[in-house]
Amino acid sequence: MYVQDFADGGMDAADLLGGKGANLAEMTRLGLPVPPGFTITTAACVEYMRTGVVPPGLRVEVTTALRRLEDAGGRRLGDPDDPLLVSVRSGARFSMPGMMETILDVGLNDASVHGLAAQSGDERFAWDSYRRLVQMFGRTVLGIDGAAFADPLDAAKERTGVASDVELGADELRTLTATYLEIVRARSGRDFPQDPRDQLDAAIVAVLDSWNTDRARLYRRKERIPDDLGTAVNVCAMVFGNLGPDSGTGVAFTRDPATGRAGDYGDYLPNAQGEDVVAGIRNTSTLADLARLDPASYADLRRAMRRLETHYRDLCDVEFTIERGHLWMLQTRVGKRTAAAAFRIATQLVDEGIITLDEALTRVTGEQLTQLLFPRFDAAAERTVLARGLGASPGAAVGRAVFDPATAQEWAGRGEAVVLVRRETNPDDLGGMLAAVGILTARGGKTSHAAVVARGIGRTCVVGADAVDVDPSARAFRTDGRVIAEGDVIALDGGTGEVFLGDVPVIDSPVTLYLTDGVDAALAQAGEDDARALVGAVDRLLRHADAARRLGVRANADTADDAVRARELGAEGIGLARTEHMFLGERRVLIERAIVADDDAARQSAFDALLPLQRADVRGVLEAMDGLPTTIRLLDPPLHEFLPDLTDLAVRVAVADERGESDPDDVALLGAVRRMHEANPMLGLRGVRLGLVLPGLFALQIRAICDAVADLRAQGRDPHAEIMVPLVGSAQEMRLVRAQVEEISAEVGVRGLRVGTMIELPRAALTAARIAEVADFFSFGTNDLTQTVWGFSRDDVEGAFFPAYLDNGVLVVSPFETLDAVGVGRLVTLATREGRERRPDLVIGVCGEHGGDPESIRFFHDAGLDYVSCSPLRVPVARLEAGRAAV
Ligand code: ADP
Ligand code: MG
Ligand code: MG
Repeated sequence: MYVQDFADGGMDAADLLGGKGANLAEMTRLGLPVPPGFTITTAACVEYMRTGVVPPGLRVEVTTALRRLEDAGGRRLGDPDDPLLVSVRSGARFSMPGMMETILDVGLNDASVHGLAAQSGDERFAWDSYRRLVQMFGRTVLGIDGAAFADPLDAAKERTGVASDVELGADELRTLTATYLEIVRARSGRDFPQDPRDQLDAAIVAVLDSWNTDRARLYRRKERIPDDLGTAVNVCAMVFGNLGPDSGTGVAFTRDPATGRAGDYGDYLPNAQGEDVVAGIRNTSTLADLARLDPASYADLRRAMRRLETHYRDLCDVEFTIERGHLWMLQTRVGKRTAAAAFRIATQLVDEGIITLDEALTRVTGEQLTQLLFPRFDAAAERTVLARGLGASPGAAVGRAVFDPATAQEWAGRGEAVVLVRRETNPDDLGGMLAAVGILTARGGKTSHAAVVARGIGRTCVVGADAVDVDPSARAFRTDGRVIAEGDVIALDGGTGEVFLGDVPVIDSPVTLYLTDGVDAALAQAGEDDARALVGAVDRLLRHADAARRLGVRANADTADDAVRARELGAEGIGLARTEHMFLGERRVLIERAIVADDDAARQSAFDALLPLQRADVRGVLEAMDGLPTTIRLLDPPLHEFLPDLTDLAVRVAVADERGESDPDDVALLGAVRRMHEANPMLGLRGVRLGLVLPGLFALQIRAICDAVADLRAQGRDPHAEIMVPLVGSAQEMRLVRAQVEEISAEVGVRGLRVGTMIELPRAALTAARIAEVADFFSFGTNDLTQTVWGFSRDDVEGAFFPAYLDNGVLVVSPFETLDAVGVGRLVTLATREGRERRPDLVIGVCGEHGGDPESIRFFHDAGLDYVSCSPLRVPVARLEAGRAAV
């Protein structure tokens, strides 16, 4: 079964029907006015992709479904006297806005255009529909450049002296259609198919093919949508918004998707069809205009939207058409929204009793929270306003103006921040939109392509700035007598819709202020209503996440400053304080001396010089984290990082030799560097190995930590230092270091120091039970664990073969970004289980970068870890995500 009528489906079959088809079926089931139609399932597309030919049974199934459709309305497809027309619409499981193809008015030809004119009593409308079909069919089925059709349309408008296509009369449109038919013949080498069924079949294949266009693949990669799902194809009886001034088409949201304000929100265009709204070719009216123009249809629309919100229990967007005063619903889905709107709407729905607070938590993401931390423009700063449009996707973007997607990608590739400026955008602009920090369009409303896509990909966006006169060929825009050329810096405020000249200073967002200074301070600063509502919503959801989550959240912080910052952002300790930077800078000479030393005394004197420095560093971090666990890792990096580069040093010695000025220290150093040279240092002398081979190194670090703890305790402070040993592969390594800790801590007289290990080698995970006997805690170092499990080095592979691996599907996402749950994750699960079996009170955390990644956090929650540790700025994200994992 490849085909299903709208009347027989529903959301439970969304995998097969795609999002659009399932939602159309769902609306049909709710009794909303949806034109009849049927869906060709994703299974047909999957089969088509597998075999390269349309599945043989499909044609027959389409015939029977089409007959049912014809019988229901008493009209036949393309009938010369009274034609049924249909739209052929793509619709995958996950919405891919503007990514795929839609063809309207299928069924019109040289004969049925007259039937349509006679039945509707509107000649102009019939020719308008026919020229649209030839245009859309030419573009999407035959692959003819859209400009080939747009140019004659512009010329016709110029010739007749009208501003927009609605003012073109029947005669002009008939001539235009003839021109279009000629263009099709000239460009594709065949005639536009006059047989309605041929049109339908070709349109279906075009939609199937659209699944695999470059831009569709790019979008899927970005959104992590698998390539093998396929799209469904919806065939839907046409209704007409271009039947005169009492008809029209629009897009609406049940709440404002940009700010989250309650109340419906949308764009409406009288006497228009389909994509006119989204394409932004005419500036649109609002729903308030519709309410004046046609109060009855507006009331019907409101009722339908309320019904949908009740049903889906979330913000919905709808596409609708009014045909001579009759409302038709053409699409709905749970709508995309900005980060701010997500937080506000989730809490609004709680207040309205539509969802629970737990559910509200699932409606927001850590990624959205990060977006709310972006700085905003300082309203108090001197600013030159160039233009005003609609704030379609918030943020403060500053960059150089560019006028085409290719330039945007090229400039961004070399590190420039760019703002993409277009008259309006279309799906071919996606690459440029992704590359840009902001997008500015002269036309279109908040539901235009630019607005929808920008919100989806989290770019700042201002649309419909109609004072902006874009001239792509001159690579410039003109506004208010000023010319802004390619490369000039402009700034966009995606909240207010303002466009500024040059760089504008930015200030912290109210949410940042909330996180660092608390809710009262943020509310006091916030001023405007939207900001206050946002702070309130974030506070409520974050507090609920904190109450719900089982995972603790710590930070990776090496310095006292970072520790303070992390604590402000809600960290409950430090999961990783690295000590290596304490050995860099001026101190490198000391460690160099210790390494090169040829006797114990010389080495010890170098360590003695390091001791007070190390002690002070550790003290600072412990002080900032007073009362909270602070995991300090002993020295980890390979030795060579502390020594001069072998080649440089060899050259220096050789040159000095030549001149007869050789320096004995350099010669000794060179000997040492040569001795210690490793072909594969990351798998060499580092971590615990270094500590065991270079006597005194770990002892120095342990003593520094013990001293710092003793000092702070003496002052009445409450330091909770935990010593962490890196790169352990065997329980015996751990035992040796532990013995050192016990000896030194007894000497210094501090008790209760906890000692644990990183689990970052497969062998450590596999022997976790033994290691647990000598460790108080485990911390998964998932960066190294990923490298050692996969056997590749992160620094080397990212450019070398990751792009190819992502292309050919070996990887869907970098395993350094999101934990490879089925591979690396198995070791995490195994080590956790076997470690705890041996030692039930074993504390287990993770300190790799995965500790801040939403999907990985969910995995760690399920695996039963005690905490995640991430960079200070990710702490709020991790708190929220850990809460979401728990509800
Ligand atoms: P997209 O996925 O890009 O939104 P759609 O398949 O929803 O594409 O089609 C775009 C627009 O075409 C719709 O919003 C609607 O206005 C118009 N359209 C589609 N099908 C019909 C139809 N049967 N009758 C009238 N208009 C239609
Ligand atoms: Mg649509
Ligand atoms: Mg490591």
